[in-house]
Amino acid sequence: MSEEAISIETLYEIAARVDVIDAMRDFYEAADKGIAARGALCTNRGDCCRFGEFGHRLYVTTLEVVYFMAMHPSSLPVTVDACPHAIDGTCHAREGRPLGCRVFYCDPKAQDWQGPLTEEMLAQLREMHVCLKVPYVYQDWLAILRRVADNGGAGDGSVRLTIVD
Ligand code: SF4
Repeated sequence: MSEEAISIETLYEIAARVDVIDAMRDFYEAADKGIAARGALCTNRGDCCRFGEFGHRLYVTTLEVVYFMAMHPSSLPVTVDACPHAIDGTCHAREGRPLGCRVFYCDPKAQDWQGPLTEEMLAQLREMHVCLKVPYVYQDWLAILRRVADNGGAGDGSVRLTIVD
């Protein structure tokens, strides 16, 4: 594992690749179908998007980040320990939301399948990074949203992402 700087420009360049966006669209379509077939129920209306209160974190890969950037070019500022796209209990970024947002349900009936399904889908994602020649990172969602919204924060136009070799 090594720490490297990836510029915001590079992330947007990857987000502009048709092959990347097509592959991610297909990936999410398959994931959504598999999840819908299991019939989980969401009852907490956005509580899990308030990470601090809920007591969990959401981690994302490069491909999830760039797909999100392509679907939702206007980044909202992160002001609290919660996703800024959760507004009045509803996700306002459903099209580009990361895998974890699609798979996670607090429904007790989902506990048996969501772990194995997540592992399976993450393995597919990992392979897609190799095939598409996209650097693989796996980092905290809010940390990345913050950096993208700040356009690098420190003003150098880069985000520090941990590249997983
Ligand atoms: S992208 Fe949507 S579902 Fe995912 S954390 Fe943000 S508001 Fe919640």
